Amino acid sequence: MICLTPTPYGRPPLLNGEAVSEEGSRIKTVDVRAATEASPLLNSALRFRRGAGGEAPALPSKGNTVSVPLFYGKVALVTGGSRGIGRAITLALAQAGCTVVFCYRAEHAAATALCQTAHAQAWPVSALCADVSNRPAVDQLIADVLAMHGRIDILVNNAGRFPRQSVLEMSDDDWENVLRTNLFSAFYCARAVLPTMIAANAGVIINIASIAGQRGSAYHAHYAAAKGGLLAFTRSLAREVIAHNIRVNAVAPGRISTEMLLEEVTDSEQERWRSDTPIRRLGTPEEVAAAVVFLASPASSYMVGETLSVNGGLLMD
Ligand code: NDP
Repeated sequence: MICLTPTPYGRPPLLNGEAVSEEGSRIKTVDVRAATEASPLLNSALRFRRGAGGEAPALPSKGNTVSVPLFYGKVALVTGGSRGIGRAITLALAQAGCTVVFCYRAEHAAATALCQTAHAQAWPVSALCADVSNRPAVDQLIADVLAMHGRIDILVNNAGRFPRQSVLEMSDDDWENVLRTNLFSAFYCARAVLPTMIAANAGVIINIASIAGQRGSAYHAHYAAAKGGLLAFTRSLAREVIAHNIRVNAVAPGRISTEMLLEEVTDSEQERWRSDTPIRRLGTPEEVAAAVVFLASPASSYMVGETLSVNGGLLMD
């Protein structure tokens, strides 16, 4: 687990600046090796670093059989990966052999718990605290991931907020904050990873949109506008970068059982949601993660600029 002292930009001071060790003492970090020696937490995260030449970790072998996991040698960045759908995506990619770095905004305990869950399975997962609605924080986040692993093959833009508000009550700041978290963040992250993907002539970007961006959502106009924009951004970016062998697609979940959703709605609303969804239940984060794994994998190699809906039948008409 990475050191967790938020800076004014909310990023952990991984490579340059100050950090806090597991014991709570402040340490200066000037490079990865020095930081690793000083901090057991950082050491634990960097255990999963690729070799000095950028080579992938050793393949798991049993007797004469060597099994090659689906994402062997790949590095993924998942934004908002500490809980809910992002957590399920992080675990699914890691289980399939990917080295995963996820970022989160503030909840250190959830991030630590997820790293511990992954490390218990020897899955290479580490966490960085970074507010993806803030452009300098995103640039630093991408630089830190590249410093740790030397490449980013898969970017999943998942971080989001879903506040319930009438348009009449929305301040300019409310509108901007929701757009920043749900839409600007994807632009910032994509723009920052593209140079490394273009240099590799390969890459996958997956944007987690929402059914709200497909059909609107009362009392969530800012959120729906951001998600609708994210779908248009997905198609536009896909057209622009497919020439570099970079595939951009979106997943549009329906009603998924996560804290984000359950915090915002009453029990009776949840019951109504269950009964008016054709499959008659909420979706699980793992069901969304399965769509992401598909879009990240060669199984979807002919899918470009597509939106994969995971919504229990809500848009069948
Ligand atoms: P959760 O609220 O459960 O989790 C949100 C995650 O995003 C947390 O890890 C949170 O970190 C992180 N996060 C929030 N803001 C920022 C930020 N500014 N910078 C970095 N990380 C941030 O959400 P869900 O899992 O429900 O949703 C995940 C995605 O799926 C979102 O984009 C959402 O819009 C979309 N979606 C969800 C649906 C649902 O029904 N749940 C339906 C359709 C789409 P921290 O906890 O530290 O703040």
